[in-house]
Amino acid sequence: MAAYDYDLFVIGGGSGGVRASRMAALAGRKVGIAEEYQFGGTCVIRGCIPKKLFVYASQYGEDFEDAAGFGWTVPERHFDWKTLVANKDKEIARLSDMYVANVKKAGVEIFDERAEFLDPHTVVLKKSGKKITAERFLIATGGHPSHEASQIEGSANCITSNEAFYLEKLPRRIVIAGGGYIGVEFAHIFHGLGCDVTLVFRADKVLRGFDEDIRDCLMAEMHTSGIRCVAGRTLTRVDRKGDEVFAFTGKGEVIEADRVMLAIGRHPNTRGLGLDKAGVKLGKHEAVAVDDYSKTNVDHIYAIGDVTDRLQLTPVAIHEAMCFVKTVFEGKPTPVDHHLVPTAVFSRPEIATVGLTETKALEQGYAIDVYQSTFRPLKHTLSGRNTRARFKLVVDAKTNKVLGCHIFGFDAAEIIQMATVALKMGATKENFDAAIALHPTAAEELVTMRTKSYSKP
Ligand code: NDP
Repeated sequence: MAAYDYDLFVIGGGSGGVRASRMAALAGRKVGIAEEYQFGGTCVIRGCIPKKLFVYASQYGEDFEDAAGFGWTVPERHFDWKTLVANKDKEIARLSDMYVANVKKAGVEIFDERAEFLDPHTVVLKKSGKKITAERFLIATGGHPSHEASQIEGSANCITSNEAFYLEKLPRRIVIAGGGYIGVEFAHIFHGLGCDVTLVFRADKVLRGFDEDIRDCLMAEMHTSGIRCVAGRTLTRVDRKGDEVFAFTGKGEVIEADRVMLAIGRHPNTRGLGLDKAGVKLGKHEAVAVDDYSKTNVDHIYAIGDVTDRLQLTPVAIHEAMCFVKTVFEGKPTPVDHHLVPTAVFSRPEIATVGLTETKALEQGYAIDVYQSTFRPLKHTLSGRNTRARFKLVVDAKTNKVLGCHIFGFDAAEIIQMATVALKMGATKENFDAAIALHPTAAEELVTMRTKSYSKP
């Protein structure tokens, strides 16, 4: 008889947990997985996918307006929130079912309940009370919107991105706290759907850590489009009176709205998992502390994805899952590679970036040449919209290697994916210059920026 029920038991059926469980099963291991909610995790259920669907929905308004310059007459428009939410729910259910089907097809046994550690080799399933032992465990429980990190009195009167996906009614006025990915993306979603949006953030600009010029471009665009930005403020209190909420800033202002949404970071799901009973140590922000192979301080317990608070991005969790399976089940120790991870913010227009910003490059001791281009996208010569795109390359002055690529413009995310291939291959500015432009596109700017804009330091 086998010493344990499973070779691997995975806790959490999100992108990372599902990938790891399937790959380990396909490698011939006996694998079980527990998920207490719905398969698909943050990305599929209340993150990337529904968010992108909402982003598409939010862009039609401007597209209808832009169509006039091209000769179209668009009849009176009407948007129905309930239809969007229902159609989104249908698609999310389809995707979640597909995750389940794929996991089953790989031979993984599924448990639709919460699992908590009883000791380093045993978990208990909370609904059934069933105890399960495994030789190895993978913690892939993800994260949740941070409520408790805030100092906000009355935070129970606020929603987070979790609830935003299921609101009964589209708010007429919404206050969003937090100037990170989620705050910026939802500000654009709600604004595009016709809400009156106020974005409150504690820094002077949104998107800390992004390229400074790109941040400036976005701030200017938000101003033009009518998203109200309240910089240098945090919310201290939120009151509810009937259907109305009142958001108080630390500087004495009160903003009235129908909803207040908190988007002030996400917190790893480590509480109540019995990690102390398994002897697993936590690090910063109560995240599971892991080494380069995603191994915790306990030899047979690994953790991947948002619960480790490394880079909270779906493709990174999937990459960590693949490295875990290679390391543990395929005899090929593979450390995770967090170098040159592309990322995008789905504002309007989008921001997409890979590699070093000017600031980071200088901090790392590089002397840099910067190439940049600002232009009005061809489409807007007829639409009349005054949006400008900005493309920027940060280049190592010594070797001419491209260190970073930053784009503010339509389809930026689509473009940056391929720029990532070039940067991963160590492309130099000459390599970019040698590529023949594809005309007329916005992406051609990347290979036609011949004149250096400036050098630093
Ligand atoms: P972010 O870390 O992106 O932003 C958090 C924001 O909240 C920042 O503006 C931060 O301010 C602010 N903040 C933090 N704590 C407080 C506080 N106590 N009071 C007031 N403001 C505070 O987190 P998000 O929640 O937006 O997103 C979480 C993660 O999810 C992201 O980091 C990203 O990895 C991932 N994500 C990725 C997306 C994508 O790929 N498109 C989309 C959505 C999420 P400050 O900058 O001053 O620290």
